[in-house]
Parts: sequence; C-alpha cells; structure tokens
Amino acid sequence: MKRWNGWGNIEVEYPLHESALSFLESKLGPSRKPQDISLEELTKKVPQSHIGHKLVTTDSFDRVRHARGQSLPDWIALRSGNIEYFPAGVAYPQSNQDIKSLINYAYDNDIALIPYGGGTSVVGHINIYNAKPTITVDLSKMNKLMHLNEENHTATFQAGINGLDLEAILNEKGYTLGHFPQSFEYSTLGGWIATRSSGQQSLGYGRIERMFLGGKFITPHGELNLPPFPASAAGPDLKEIILGSEGRYGILTEATVRIHKLPEREIFKAVFFPTFSHGLKAIRELSRQRTPLTMLRLSTEIETITTLALAGRAQQISILETLLGFRGIGENKVLLLYGIAGTKEEVSSQKSIRNTIKQYNGVHVPVFGSEWHKSRFKTPYLRNTLWELGYAVDTLETAIPWGKALGLIRDLQEKISNGLDKEKVHTFTHVSHMYTDGCSVYTTYIYKLSDSPEENLRKWQILKGLASETIIQWGGTISHQHGVGKDHLPYLSREKGALGLQVLGTLGMLFDPENILNPGKLF
Ligand SMILES: Cc1cc2nc3c(=O)[nH]c(=O)nc-3n(C[C@H](O)[C@H](O)[C@H](O)COP(=O)(O)OP(=O)(O)OC[C@H]3O[C@@H](n4cnc5c(N)ncnc54)[C@H](O)[C@@H]3O)c2cc1C
Repeated sequence: MKRWNGWGNIEVEYPLHESALSFLESKLGPSRKPQDISLEELTKKVPQSHIGHKLVTTDSFDRVRHARGQSLPDWIALRSGNIEYFPAGVAYPQSNQDIKSLINYAYDNDIALIPYGGGTSVVGHINIYNAKPTITVDLSKMNKLMHLNEENHTATFQAGINGLDLEAILNEKGYTLGHFPQSFEYSTLGGWIATRSSGQQSLGYGRIERMFLGGKFITPHGELNLPPFPASAAGPDLKEIILGSEGRYGILTEATVRIHKLPEREIFKAVFFPTFSHGLKAIRELSRQRTPLTMLRLSTEIETITTLALAGRAQQISILETLLGFRGIGENKVLLLYGIAGTKEEVSSQKSIRNTIKQYNGVHVPVFGSEWHKSRFKTPYLRNTLWELGYAVDTLETAIPWGKALGLIRDLQEKISNGLDKEKVHTFTHVSHMYTDGCSVYTTYIYKLSDSPEENLRKWQILKGLASETIIQWGGTISHQHGVGKDHLPYLSREKGALGLQVLGTLGMLFDPENILNPGKLF
C-alpha cells in the first residue's frame, strides 16, 4: 500500500546507518521530528461533499490521498494537516466515455476537474488552490496495453498506466520504453507526457517528447486524435500542445510511444575524477560522441561526499579513498555514474568512452555503478527516513548551456547553503541529462525541521525563491523536467514572454472556455 503522507510503498524502509546520521548532524545539527497529524485526525477535517456522480467517490480517505502531491510544501501540508482545500470527490474513470461524462458533469455543475496520474508531481500540479468544488480524476484504472506494433516498434497504452506496469508488459514481450524517472514506481505515461518528463537514461532513449508519437486527447471543446507519424512537416506539431499541458487543456487517455528491443546487455559503471571541472569536461565530450551511453550523472564534490557518507560503510569508503589517493584523486574527488546499453559487442568495446575518461584522469571503481542501478528507485524512500529524523528535503532542477553550468552550480549551492539567516542548509548537486549544447542541473537541499509547519514552509519559500531567481539570472530554464505546476508559475513569464503566455492562455480558452480543467495552473 502507498504511503498517504510520504513516498512509496509503506512496506519499504530506508534505514540510515549510525555514521550517516552523524554526518548529517555534523552538517546541520541534531534535530527532532515534528508532531505529525494522524490519518484519522486528518480525515476528520475533510468537509462534507455534495457531489453525486456514479464514477465519483466522496470517501474521506480517498480525498486525503488525492489532496496533495510530493513537493516539500505538500509534505508539510499533509504531515501538519494544514490543507485548505480537499477534492470534493475522486473519480476513477475506465473509458473515454467515462471521461466525457465527467467533463459534461463538471460543465453542468460548475465543478473543476484535476487529471491525476500517479500524484508524484513535485511542483504543486495536482493541488487545489481555490474554493471551487473540484473532482480529482484518477486515471489509474485506465492502465491497459491497447496495441503493440512489432513491425513499427510502437505501442499504444491507456495513459493511466504507471512506469512499473508499463515496463513489465513491454519487457515480457522483449521491449522497453527506456523511460525511467526516479518516480517510476508510481508516475504514469499520461503524467510524463503532461509534464514533459525526462528519465534517467534520456541520453540513450531521449526525453518523453522523443517517445510520444500521438494519441487521444479529450478536451471540453472536443477530441484531438493525433495519428503516430514517424515524422511530419504538416505545419506546427499538435503533439507539442499536449506535451507539458499539465492537465490544463484536456485529458490524455491513450498514447502511442516509440519502443525499443531490450538491449542484449546493459551495464552501469562508476568513475572518480580528481575535480568537478575534470569530470565536467569529460562528460561534455562524451555527450558529443556517438556511443551506446544511456546515462551520465556527475556529482559535485559535496554530493560525492554526501553519497559516500550516507552509504554508511565508513571502513570500505576509507579503503577506497586511500586507493584513489594513490591514483592522484584526493579530497576534491567527484563521482560519475554512467550506463551503457546495446549489443554485447557494443557494450564490451567502450574504447572511446574509456579513452575520454582516462584523458581527464578518471579512475574506474568496481561495484558502485551496479549498486546504484539496483537501488535507483529506492533512494526517494530516504526522504521518509530523513523526515522521521527531523530533516526536510527538497530538490530543484534546470537546464543550462555548457558554458554557464559550472558558474550556475557554484552560485546555486552557495546561495541555498547560506539562504537561511541563522542555520546551515546542506546543499549538493549533480549534472545529468546531457545534450550536445548543455546539461540539466539537479540540486538537493536539506534543512532542519522545526515544530512549526508555518516556519518550515517559510524556509522553503525563501530557498525556493532564491534558487529560482538564481536560475533565471543565469539564463537557465525554470524547469528541465518537473514542469511548471503552481510553484514555477511566477517565473514562467520571464521565460516565455508576454506574447508566449498569451498563446498558452488563448489555447486554454479554446480547449476549455469554462475553465474546468486544473484551474490556476500553467497560465
Ligand atoms: C521521488 C520523485 C522522483 C522524481 N523523479 C523524476 C524524474 O526522474 N524525472 C522527471 O521527469 N520527473 C520526476 N519526478 C516528478 C514527477 O514524477 C513527474 O512530473 C511525473 O511526470 C508526474 O507523473 P504523474 O503520473 O505522477 O502525474 P501527476 O503528478 O499525477 O500529474 C502531473 C500533471 O500532469 C497532469 N496529468 C497527469 N496525467 C494526465 C493525463 N492523462 N492527461 C492530462 N494531464 C495529465 C496532471 O493534471 C498534473 O498537472 C519525480 C517525483 C518524485 C516524487
């Protein structure tokens, strides 16, 4: 069963080793867990609902579960019970006809609808911000494979299918989509498309934009049916309107995606470089070579130290550090994780990859890469553990041209670390999702929770504001993969411009003139 106020399956824990805890305490000071509200108390706060539709449940527990996503403000709200608006009901449609019936009901009764995939949004996409009665449309029952075309290497799924189920179905038939966001267990195909998601192996398989070929998009103003062309020059591409539409223009019910034969072999490796700038030069070069690389992920010095400390194996790490020292890699070391997939020959002949790594004094180490791969969807469970210990965690991300990456990273880390007057914020970053012209930058920060949810939220607002301003000043995008939601909305106009925002708003007026769908988001 899914946690209602944290990440993931309730049966999965992520215990921290004593030494890892000491590390955190050395950075942030000791903390204690704030008093969390119980589920029973919170459900008592859910108001009566007057929704009457056969597809909608008004059960309080369901309404609590769908009230918030996975951002830090969402966690603070869920754990303190400070939730202003709950959905008036939750619908579980099973067909396109059900979706149309819900849209008609919303239209006739002045109700808002929020499309909901896995609820893994980290920027406030699925939250309600006004008193208008709202039904959350949970697409989890629209989760079937509709068609697999082995001749074209495409598959059509209902859009509510989650990553785990989608890959299991494809793997069984010898295929993969290749889309592995860290939220993979719960996030859905429709959610990925509606937020322009990027998976960990985007270097090899591309972002969701490269996978999405067409589908069925039901709007209050009618239906868009986009056929899957390999490519088309027939005017502007209407798929671009669906990608990143964040539940604002319509509900995607079916999607056709490009798929790939499962690779014969796939490996994940780890390398240490003497400095971040060595590592950065190496990955920039690697991302421009034609290789079977599917992933490059380079941590800064602080993220490297943090990763090693949180692993909790002090003795082995100390041996590793001594050995790295013999190879000229000292305290400024940084960790690169990389993945390769392809035929057996492609994977074993990695000459140009090895040469580039060697050129920048990188040293391969065993085990780290495969260990990371094994636990890559488990890391988010650490957030639960940290909260229980009294620490708040948040992440943010952007993409920026190569020439500005180092400057932005240093500035972001410095600003966030010192963003709270009287206390330290532990801040660390990695670079992932490579392009020939730039990369994404992903920063995590941890601060001590206080007993006051208002204070915890205030700290988040300060840090989020500082980080967003820094990103914009450096010329980065306000989001490389998480989307706009509510949290990035104040910054969107500086990226899109007035006319750009008008385009988004005008499309909204066309598809949804009564403002039924996910009001208050995107524009
Ligand atoms: C631990 C964790 C790790 C994450 N890692 C990544 C990562 O590696 N890469 C990444 O890109 N993101 C990541 N995210 C963010 C999040 O998982 C993505 O934004 C994801 O694409 C959201 O999918 P979802 O199905 O959960 O959508 P939801 O959160 O349910 O919804 C997100 C938005 O999409 C809309 N929507 C959902 N389904 C539909 C549909 N069928 N039709 C129309 N609109 C729809 C909703 O209305 C909403 O506006 C992570 C989040 C968490 C909590």
